Amino acid sequence: MKAMVLRKITDLAKNTSPLELVDLPIPVPRDNEILVKVSACGVCHTELDEIEGRTPPPRLPVVLGHQVVGRVAATGSQARRFQLGERVGVAWIYSACGKCRFCLSGNENLCAAFRATGRDAPGGYAEYMVVPEDFAYRIPAAFSDVEAAPLLCAGAIGYRSLRLANLQDGQSLGLTGFGASAHLVLMMARHKYPHSPVFVFARSARERAFALELGAAWAGATEDKSPEKLASIIDTTPVWKPVVEALQNLEPGGRLVINAIRKEEVDKEYLLRLDYPAHLWLEKEIKSVANVTRDDVREFLELAAAIPIRPEVEEFALEEANQALVELKLRQIRGAKVLRVA
Ligand SMILES: [Zn+2]
Ligand SMILES: [Zn+2]
Repeated sequence: MKAMVLRKITDLAKNTSPLELVDLPIPVPRDNEILVKVSACGVCHTELDEIEGRTPPPRLPVVLGHQVVGRVAATGSQARRFQLGERVGVAWIYSACGKCRFCLSGNENLCAAFRATGRDAPGGYAEYMVVPEDFAYRIPAAFSDVEAAPLLCAGAIGYRSLRLANLQDGQSLGLTGFGASAHLVLMMARHKYPHSPVFVFARSARERAFALELGAAWAGATEDKSPEKLASIIDTTPVWKPVVEALQNLEPGGRLVINAIRKEEVDKEYLLRLDYPAHLWLEKEIKSVANVTRDDVREFLELAAAIPIRPEVEEFALEEANQALVELKLRQIRGAKVLRVA
């Protein structure tokens, strides 16, 4: 099968072809695994973190990709959940132990044995992949394969961040950064909390215009003061400036949720502007978001179909994965980037 593999950690600014097209044997599903014939795989900012070593795969080479849609092509001897040919999705959570206190309390995303698709196990930048059947999802009929792919990460983790924001309907919400995840969060927030005004902080005028189009009450630049103090803010950027700027827009007791697996180092000195009384005092909280649970993915897919959310997608061939990654790095974003595999 064709696959795009990462052989070594590298800097995308210097190496614009980090992945190599190779021919690999089709994997064989064991026991409770299913073989998925991949039709679409989303391209995620986390792949940049893997390639550049901020969350490095434990073994190389590896097939990246954790927003996978395809059809069941074979089943292991113990796998019973799906029929051959059934459409399934695979998300960032590839497996967890199922026995620890985190797994048993609904926080399998925090399990010490958490394994991520396309980092700790081969992912969807390939024609086929295997996954434990309990970690695959039925995809609502409302979505095409390419539409469903970006929902599996940006959407599911956006859903988790919104959950962790602890918002009550009517309280004001801020979003800093307005990429794939944030625009989905805005749509979810408008649906779940119809009386909550949403304030968007984004670098580009185009992103701000898009936010207003989608129903934001206000849109400004990263360093702007919002017209009112906000109960919660969700940060979806890869850098530090928006974190510091967001904290001063929080109301007393407000919560900042940072939805990023890693932050880049480029503007870390911005943290020195942190002023305790302005940014943290009055019981403001900062909470990060780690991974997703299967419930996040399932609940989000249902919500997305009910709203309905139709992500804007930009398609690339599997062989064009490097181009998609470089454009993502350069923030040339016209909708979620998706590899069309078959
Ligand atoms: Zn992702
Ligand atoms: Zn566990």
